Amino acid sequence: MSDITFTPIGGAAEIGANCFLISRGNNGILLDSGIHPKKEGREALPKFELLQSPPEAVVVSHGHIDHCGSVPFLLREFPATPCYATRPTVSIMDRMLHNSVSVMTTLGKERNIPEYPLYTHSDVDYAIRQSAGMEYDREFPVSAHCPFTASFQHAGHVLGSAGILLRAEGHTLYYTGDICLTDQELLGGLQIIDMDVHVDTLIIESTRGAHLDDEERTFTSEIRRFAEEARKVLEKGGVVLVPAFALGRTQELLNIIDRLQANGELPQVPVFASGLGRAIYEVYDKYTDYLRPEVSLSPLYQFERIGDVWDPRVTRNLLKQASIVVATSGMLVENTPSAMIAQEMVRHEHHGIFFVGYLDPDTLGYKLLHANVDDKLVFQTGGNEVAVKLPNRQTFHFSAHAPREDLQHVIDKTQPTNVIFVHGDPDAIEWLKANCNGVPNKFAPDIGESVTLHA
Ligand SMILES: [Zn+2]
Ligand SMILES: [Zn+2]
Repeated sequence: MSDITFTPIGGAAEIGANCFLISRGNNGILLDSGIHPKKEGREALPKFELLQSPPEAVVVSHGHIDHCGSVPFLLREFPATPCYATRPTVSIMDRMLHNSVSVMTTLGKERNIPEYPLYTHSDVDYAIRQSAGMEYDREFPVSAHCPFTASFQHAGHVLGSAGILLRAEGHTLYYTGDICLTDQELLGGLQIIDMDVHVDTLIIESTRGAHLDDEERTFTSEIRRFAEEARKVLEKGGVVLVPAFALGRTQELLNIIDRLQANGELPQVPVFASGLGRAIYEVYDKYTDYLRPEVSLSPLYQFERIGDVWDPRVTRNLLKQASIVVATSGMLVENTPSAMIAQEMVRHEHHGIFFVGYLDPDTLGYKLLHANVDDKLVFQTGGNEVAVKLPNRQTFHFSAHAPREDLQHVIDKTQPTNVIFVHGDPDAIEWLKANCNGVPNKFAPDIGESVTLHA
């Protein structure tokens, strides 16, 4: 029996274009095929040139773009390769990837990036036709002549998100994808105890490996604080802008806000949601049986459309009355709906901008959060500088990623012979590596660096 090897094609020691090759002999399968959230053009793709033969299959953990954003490019190169994901993830990919084509087309023109878009709408249609939607916990052969079977395990991160369990003769691998062990508003957390499998190799995300979990700030206490702070803004007639990722955070927050309004903890002001977040909401609505059993998803029609935020009259109108606006992108990337609305909001003092997720230090969101009053920022490419008059900019902690104690718990429960850390900054990976005692082999290979795995 030949050895199994693991080679990062993208991602590895960062939150990048996640893509990992698992091979035995001549057979290789890819786990995820993402796109780098901070890079542009071909630089944003995984290093597909490292692939020596067409992969037998690509198995996708969930619909965030750092995990599935390059699938249409990959399948255009290798049209015979099948793609597998859970049923909700295939529907989510359809919407996310068509949106990516539109975003890349616009960016290509604005920033003169000739290789954009990296793929077309018809490449996305092909990729979706090549994608089989699977149920959780059902083992399937990856291909007719491939030594691996695969199954999807609940991951608790966003709708449809899954860990991937791969079995070959004499070796079991578990790739966590992105995981959350605690319940969110809509999604139940991953119960690692339910898995009940022996794992030889664990490939684990490390996003929050550097963060000490703040016990003072629980999900429930953050919701209460969010309600209190939002109420102060709304009672002054202000608008609360919540920049949020389209997949996951948007649907979770809209339901939290609706519940707080129903309980009287927030005033009955209009709640707005932006385009892609609404499109993904429809997928949540189609797959409500994948949510926590006690959840009843609020109907989408309760949330109003924002309209064309690139028209200054629309944003000015939006800011005339008290409301809550949940808009993409979460990190306030220039030219996105949240940035366009923020551009108008920061000229006034009575609104509030509430961040609810991770802010990369290079992003406009991070700069705005840390700006002093009267600092100047640019919100759209080629736009003018705007002086920030708005003092009320805050963060709330609603992570959909496991804190490091929970990552340690996954390692303890699965007792792997090999653990491979991916999807995290070097300091996060260092901490986890130093704090998982009892695991014989620990790896954090770079892109292109192969690791041989023994059971
Ligand atoms: Zn994710
Ligand atoms: Zn991710």
